[in-house]
Amino acid sequence: MLSFDCDTDADSAAAERLHPHLRAGGLSPLYAVAGEVLDSGATGYRAIADDGGVFLNHGFRRHAALDTNTGAVTSTYFYSAMDPDDWKRDIRRGHDAVNDILGQTPESFRTPHFASFERPADLATLWQYLSDIGYRHSSSTRPLFALRHGPFFSRAGIVEFPVSGCLSEPGQILDSWGLVRNGAGTTDRLRAELQAYLGLMQAGQPLLLNLYLDPADIEGDDAVITLLSRFAPYSAPGFTSVLSGAGHE
Ligand SMILES: [Zn+2]
Repeated sequence: MLSFDCDTDADSAAAERLHPHLRAGGLSPLYAVAGEVLDSGATGYRAIADDGGVFLNHGFRRHAALDTNTGAVTSTYFYSAMDPDDWKRDIRRGHDAVNDILGQTPESFRTPHFASFERPADLATLWQYLSDIGYRHSSSTRPLFALRHGPFFSRAGIVEFPVSGCLSEPGQILDSWGLVRNGAGTTDRLRAELQAYLGLMQAGQPLLLNLYLDPADIEGDDAVITLLSRFAPYSAPGFTSVLSGAGHE
């Protein structure tokens, strides 16, 4: 399961260019786009939605600041620093943005910033709220939760899908934020970690890879895009199909 987090306008532009290549390669990525970013890039995201792209609610307010001179991205707007009423309002507005801009009713949510909103009481409140407003899935937790509870688990009527860790370092999120942007600055390690998962899949090992990438970090890298397309025979278009494939729904 492949998802793209789009936190900046650079991600929006990259996603618009990337999506047709991935679709042509047989992949059906999901998109988690903050509402304000969705609004700014509405034309491109509508084209993605019209081509089968499914969108998660990723909150409304921008939670990353892009320095257009350097390309540096600074994280902002952490739910952990907010009153519950405020982050609940942000979730509600994120829902309305996906609905109003794309005509889709999201049933899956991703909190801004992995590993920043994981106190047990926060997660319990989050899952209960998502359940109360009719959601079915969340993918808001880091690999530690998969090590503890499995590749997905139910809480308060919500099925939570932690993002996957690296096989070489199970607590490390397998993503472009940690392995490329804040890693060596190349995609070498990202590709090595993906290749390790692909090898297991090709050997018939049952597993779930819940992979998220930031479009701007990989869009110009043909080797990554080619490698991603090799996952097409194993890809799932969303949470519901993963659950039905695993015999849970
Ligand atoms: Zn984000």
